[in-house]
Amino acid sequence: MPTAPFYEQLSTSLNRAYDMQTVCEIFCRSLAYKYNVNYVSILIRDEAGQLNELAKFDRAGIRYYSPARPTECAYEADEIAFYHDDDDPQHPNSGQVILPLTRHQQNFGYVMIDSNQLDGFCNHELAIISRIAALELEARQLFEDMIDHELTRKTTERMVAEQHHNQQILLEQMNALHELSDHLWKAKSVDELLYRSVFLGRELLQLDRIAIFLLNADKTEMQGTYGTDIDGNITDEHYFKGPLPDLWFQQSIKDNDFISIRDNTNLFHDGVKVGTGWNAFVALWHNDRQLGWIALDNLLTGTPVQPQLTQLLKLYSAMVSQHLRYKEAEEHQKSLNATLEQHIQERTCELEDSNRVLERLSNEDPLTRIANRRCFGKRFEQAWQQALTLQHSLSLLIFDIDHFKNYNDFYGHAAGDECLKKLSQKIDGVCQRRGVQLFRYGGEEFIILMPQHNRTEAKTFSDQLLHEVQRLNIAHYASPITSHLTLSGGIATLIPEPNFDRELMIKMADEALYNAKNNGRDQVLFYSPQKNPIKTERILLR
Ligand code: GH3
Ligand code: MG
Ligand code: MG
Repeated sequence: MPTAPFYEQLSTSLNRAYDMQTVCEIFCRSLAYKYNVNYVSILIRDEAGQLNELAKFDRAGIRYYSPARPTECAYEADEIAFYHDDDDPQHPNSGQVILPLTRHQQNFGYVMIDSNQLDGFCNHELAIISRIAALELEARQLFEDMIDHELTRKTTERMVAEQHHNQQILLEQMNALHELSDHLWKAKSVDELLYRSVFLGRELLQLDRIAIFLLNADKTEMQGTYGTDIDGNITDEHYFKGPLPDLWFQQSIKDNDFISIRDNTNLFHDGVKVGTGWNAFVALWHNDRQLGWIALDNLLTGTPVQPQLTQLLKLYSAMVSQHLRYKEAEEHQKSLNATLEQHIQERTCELEDSNRVLERLSNEDPLTRIANRRCFGKRFEQAWQQALTLQHSLSLLIFDIDHFKNYNDFYGHAAGDECLKKLSQKIDGVCQRRGVQLFRYGGEEFIILMPQHNRTEAKTFSDQLLHEVQRLNIAHYASPITSHLTLSGGIATLIPEPNFDRELMIKMADEALYNAKNNGRDQVLFYSPQKNPIKTERILLR
């Protein structure tokens, strides 16, 4: 059976090649096998028209370049060309054959062949080989370009899907952060805020273990707040406090890095190693002041460090910081308000006390400590109005110490004062038991206001009063009437009427007192209009 021509064998072999490199190798080796070839180089034009070397064959073997490597060669020819090498006397037939690679009337490269026997090449056969090479190389080139494109397309698709996935996660995290913020607003205290920050960080942001630590004002002491134990339970870690530990993240936090994440590191709980994974520290800040930090790790889930973790943790800590500052300021304000409220209350009480003292002092006679004339004015008006409304009898008794000038002159003014005190205390006691009130009206003049007392009741009481004074038995040897202190008094009793001037009632009692003095003293008399007519329209006397 005749053997198939070389180019048919070449074509069959090339058809079996599964990639460009194999095509180049089969092509070069077939040429070397068929012809006496020293060197074969396959050059391919790139999109810019530059020639690049795709494969090279020599005694060392075949070398394939992917991508094709740039070359100095700028050969341009449309036909198969032979170049004899006249400089080699040993091989008079040596030289170069150049096969252009052409498809659709377009040159897209060359096959350069170095041989010592140029006469061994048949032009017709070279033309066919050139076409086969062009066909195969172009087909492979197209195929590889297509695979390249397919790969690029798949990579791009994967990247887009990944980006979409990441965006989706980012969106979900943004929503979760928003929800977190909403829940943090509702915290009623700093403590509740810290608890919620840990609880919701795990629930909403899907973070693994979280613990929040706070710093004191001068950053020397730290204090645990809430954390997560190795079973994922939220725990109260306020017991965890002391001097600031020398931890690796402190430097980065000092450098205002805010966040440090360390992967494949030891994870601890309560100072005991509990596993390995990533460990993150993110600072809580307000302006330039560090408030504390949030520590996180992946002990429970083992979730690897996600691309968006840094961003998420920064947002999370910024949110917690902001709420923490706000809540702290709010609590500070509340405590200030409470202190202020307490101060105000204390001051109000003090003020009320001093007002009461003032009120008492303004109504009290300083010498005798009984109610004064000013107080009488108010009580008399009240009693008058009440008697006017209810149409009750109202009685007034004005009394005056008899010959008190003599007393002062005889015993001295200080003794006179003591006498005034003793007498008024005694009479005040009698009045209190009776339910009537005594006032110092002037120097040694007193007045007793007797609401709901008619003439008889007023008389009975004034008799009792004189009796008590007599029993007191204050010596008064300078008195021309008797050897002890005596009083003279005048009573006015009436049922008030709307047009009646109440000051007249005082005048009436005073008139009666005047009569008692004139009548020999040491006695109480009623006002008698017959004796001392006071001009009033209608006075009802009982
Ligand atoms: P009569 O019986 O007419 O009332 O005579 P009298 O001396 O009491 O009356 P007079 O009005 O002449 O004198 C009143 C005296 O009361 C004069 C005054 O020195 C004295 N007196 C008034 N207030 C005080 C006081 O606060 N302390 C002392 N020690 N004496 C007083
Ligand atoms: Mg007197
Ligand atoms: Mg007098």
